[in-house]
Amino acid sequence: MQFVTRAQWGAVPPSSDWTYIASTDGVKIHYEGTEVPADLTGADQHGRCAGRVRDIQASHMANTSEGWIDIAYNAVVCPHGSVFEGRGLHHKTGANGNSALNAAHYAVCAMVGDSGLTEPTDDMLGGLRDAIEWFQQQGGAGDQIEGHRDGYATDCPGDPLYGWVEQGAPRPGGSSAPRPTPAPQPPANSGSGPDWPGEYLRMQTPMLHDSNVSTWQQRMSDRGWRIAVDGWYGPQSAATARAFQDDSTAHGWPLVADGIVGPATWRASWDRPVS
Ligand SMILES: [Zn+2]
Ligand SMILES: [Zn+2]
Repeated sequence: MQFVTRAQWGAVPPSSDWTYIASTDGVKIHYEGTEVPADLTGADQHGRCAGRVRDIQASHMANTSEGWIDIAYNAVVCPHGSVFEGRGLHHKTGANGNSALNAAHYAVCAMVGDSGLTEPTDDMLGGLRDAIEWFQQQGGAGDQIEGHRDGYATDCPGDPLYGWVEQGAPRPGGSSAPRPTPAPQPPANSGSGPDWPGEYLRMQTPMLHDSNVSTWQQRMSDRGWRIAVDGWYGPQSAATARAFQDDSTAHGWPLVADGIVGPATWRASWDRPVS
């Protein structure tokens, strides 16, 4: 499963506690129900997906008539097959229509709409399948796979996706095996700094030397750390990273003190206020 945690897509915390549910009868599939840009399916467009999930969360939390405490869905699946964690496992959804329906099924939303992008991609169907199995295996979801329209008056999840639900939500390509987990994906950047370049900056042989190292070193220098901006990730960089990680943890921004600049440390290097 190509999984994107709440931290990775830049979720804000729920405005009050989620409602715990031990199990459900299954999973209901949703769509956005509005226009989704048709060009979102491009292989180079995945960088937009985290921002779209943040927008969904923001619009849900601003919806005063629903009173949602968080994004209403338990997960959102993009056209590239990534599964974005919503309310996640063992938390009651707000998306199925009423309290009883919300307790009966998890809610998984596909990033297709009623105009623009209306047909799910194969990658998306694979991601939806991944999400369904995740709720079944770890969230106590039963076997039922339904659409939002089942038992509730709505067009959701749209005819193309509902047709797939009616077929039993098969994994594209006919294989029932989950896809192998790919390398970690760069998370969306929630702040003003550059996106994590997708490369872990760490001590290695031969020594890492590139412009990503320079970019990070310059940022640390700007933050007041004594560090050479030479593009070499050597002992000084590793020691600076470790000290920054310790300092961040001490200031309520927990980071693993491993001396490696991964996505969390990269982002904190820009987003954590300079104290
Ligand atoms: Zn729906
Ligand atoms: Zn995507």
